[in-house]
Amino acid sequence: MKVSSQNFKANARKALKDQQLQTALGRATAQFVGKRKTAVAALKNFEDLRDYCAVVKAHTLDYLDYYLEQLVDNVERLGGEVHFAADGNEANRIVTELARANNVKTVVKSKSMVSEEIQLNEALEAAGVTPLETDLGEYILQLDHDAPSHIIGPAIHKTKEQVTKLFHDKLGTPLDADIPTLTSAARRVLRDGFLQADMGISGANFAVAETGTIALVENEGNIRLTTSLPRMHLAIMGLEKVIPRLHDLPAFLAILPRSATGQKASSYVSLISGAKREDEPEGPESFHLLIIDNGRSAVLADPKLRAALRCIRCGACLNSCPVYQQVGGHAYGWVYSGPIGAVLDPGLLGLKDTFNLPQASSLCGACGEVCPVKIPLPELLIEHRRRSVERGLSAKTEKVAVGAFAFIASQPVLWNAGTKMGRFAAQRLSKDGYLTGDWLPVLKQWLSERDFPAPAKTSFRERWEELK
Ligand code: SF4
Repeated sequence: MKVSSQNFKANARKALKDQQLQTALGRATAQFVGKRKTAVAALKNFEDLRDYCAVVKAHTLDYLDYYLEQLVDNVERLGGEVHFAADGNEANRIVTELARANNVKTVVKSKSMVSEEIQLNEALEAAGVTPLETDLGEYILQLDHDAPSHIIGPAIHKTKEQVTKLFHDKLGTPLDADIPTLTSAARRVLRDGFLQADMGISGANFAVAETGTIALVENEGNIRLTTSLPRMHLAIMGLEKVIPRLHDLPAFLAILPRSATGQKASSYVSLISGAKREDEPEGPESFHLLIIDNGRSAVLADPKLRAALRCIRCGACLNSCPVYQQVGGHAYGWVYSGPIGAVLDPGLLGLKDTFNLPQASSLCGACGEVCPVKIPLPELLIEHRRRSVERGLSAKTEKVAVGAFAFIASQPVLWNAGTKMGRFAAQRLSKDGYLTGDWLPVLKQWLSERDFPAPAKTSFRERWEELK
């Protein structure tokens, strides 16, 4: 997915006017939020598990070199091959060279945000390899040449009506097809894809250092087929996906689906430890693990931002964010959107093109409240804002306005005269005790949805003097 985070404001304005997007977002986020709330309330020790998982992730990040080394040793002990890529270009080169060396013509892929991050599909196509997305949401997007807008619901921005029309155009299903008819049509195409593919590419929800096991969670069964039917399996992960022990995994498997989809457990959990053994009848003949940095080392080395790498990509912060609920994921201009995107994107891509993202928050704190690994998202957003100001990246008008305010506020004579004039004008121009946009057009839109009581006739200081 190409980066367009520098256009956040224009993207957001466009999203707010898109009625179909508003309908799709309203339906989906409300459902996610409601289901999460019920699922979390039903698990008595959810808060304890949050604490535990936050500590495990923080510890792993503090000793990441040790755990990565352990992971590599154990994957290799199981017969797998491990590759490291410093950035997206190197990652794509490794994958396409692997494909070329093994005469791979077609690839089936399960949902992997890191593969979106590095634009793997484009690289495969350029190398003459045909990728097929097998997660239903990702398949819809591939059919429509569209990009994901949510970590766990990539096609969340599309209404059922849009998908019905798309399937009619591309797969010939009736225009009034119901959901089972649409999924059957997709299943027919995907089934052929699984049977023909030479390589399966998956992500990795967790990689267990002590055993070399890759853990994958899903609801559709496509990951199982992606990782077991083709003759090669390649798992791609960001270097932060490691956890130390198998013993840690159940806690993550309890909080992830509850936070993501409001399920008690994901329908399928796959634990993959290398390729098939000699005495096993099925499974891939070779297993490769590609570990990608792509800016993560810089975030890891930044003590203030490191916590962002704890993210287990549940999507709960997106669903609960009042800004994401209105503008959706595409407005953020990259793979990771919502509060975690507003924190991670500047970390991975740099602040220069992304400094608007941390501004896209009311700092209501909902994201931090729901995060299952307790990432202090509001604090990290403020940290990015602070750095934007320090580097002179924030909006010039804002800078001038804050500078003017600071100057006036430090001059008592100016301050008293200014506030007196302001109160006088506001009293004259208010209607029924409230300010309206008629007196200050620049605030018209803001005031059209908010009550702004006119300031009192006398200031607090004046009243204080009177009461003395
Ligand atoms: S930051 Fe927390 S809530 Fe948001 S996606 Fe990551 S783990 Fe989930």
